[in-house]
Amino acid sequence: MRKRRSTLAELNWVGSIPFFVMHALAVGVFVLGWSWTGLALALGLYAIRMFGVTAGYHRYFSHRTFKTSRPMQLLFAFLAMSSAQKGVLWWAAHHRQHHKRSDLEGDVHSAKLDGFIWSHVGWILSSRHDATDMERVKDLAVYPELRWLNKYHLVPPTVLGVSLFLAGGWWALFWGLVFSTVLLWHGTFTINSLTHMWGARRYATTDESRNSFLLAIITSGEGWHNNHHYYQRSTRQGFYWWELDPTFYALWLMSKVGLVWDLHGVPEKVRESHKQPRPEPTPEAPPIATSSAPPALT
Ligand SMILES: [Zn+2]
Ligand SMILES: [Zn+2]
Repeated sequence: MRKRRSTLAELNWVGSIPFFVMHALAVGVFVLGWSWTGLALALGLYAIRMFGVTAGYHRYFSHRTFKTSRPMQLLFAFLAMSSAQKGVLWWAAHHRQHHKRSDLEGDVHSAKLDGFIWSHVGWILSSRHDATDMERVKDLAVYPELRWLNKYHLVPPTVLGVSLFLAGGWWALFWGLVFSTVLLWHGTFTINSLTHMWGARRYATTDESRNSFLLAIITSGEGWHNNHHYYQRSTRQGFYWWELDPTFYALWLMSKVGLVWDLHGVPEKVRESHKQPRPEPTPEAPPIATSSAPPALT
């Protein structure tokens, strides 16, 4: 096996300055003083934007597990990108690569191959993965508004920051953007790192993906990562009723009022296959649309 990638050796120092500045500013909470109202604002925006990350970036744009209208698609992209995790096409392209080569050479953030630090932040802070592989997201790249957002990916977090400042000054900007975004980054990054390290493996997938209740709480249902790697087509990642999946509950409610539709479930045969006495075959990878034809939108 090749040597592990070193985050320090590959760090893009200049490009990573905003990342470190945000962390330094977040520590400023110890200077400014504690505020319970501020924490509530930070956690509120964490929850809303985590929904954008999981429902938008992940379950819609990366895996196309449900359908929605074009305006809602744009809204999902904007909300997800207000988390300051780069462009929606960039995110989906790298995530599709992760599933294609999960924990094998070519996986962009494998904790197994490159360790926790690389899978958590190293792969983002290096310049190795700056580009968006448009070949992987042809189905999304047909929309000019998504291509525009992908290019100007700082627009959504900037709009959020300016809105917070106008509404509540520096106090709101600090708690609602700086503090909340740093928490949100690390909450999201656990999906790339710890969900391949902590928890139980229900299904014998070829990677190290795991299920964890604790990570499901932090990530609004993404902690059921072994379920997800086994059957990526499903909108819900908690396969059983006791597997907490707030993102799915919200999408289910949205489907009841017609904002989203065609949510994919998990077939019982697939869900129960772990009870078979012999090792179960991994289902086919989901049919991610990579043709240039736009998906059905109304
Ligand atoms: Zn995924
Ligand atoms: Zn994974």
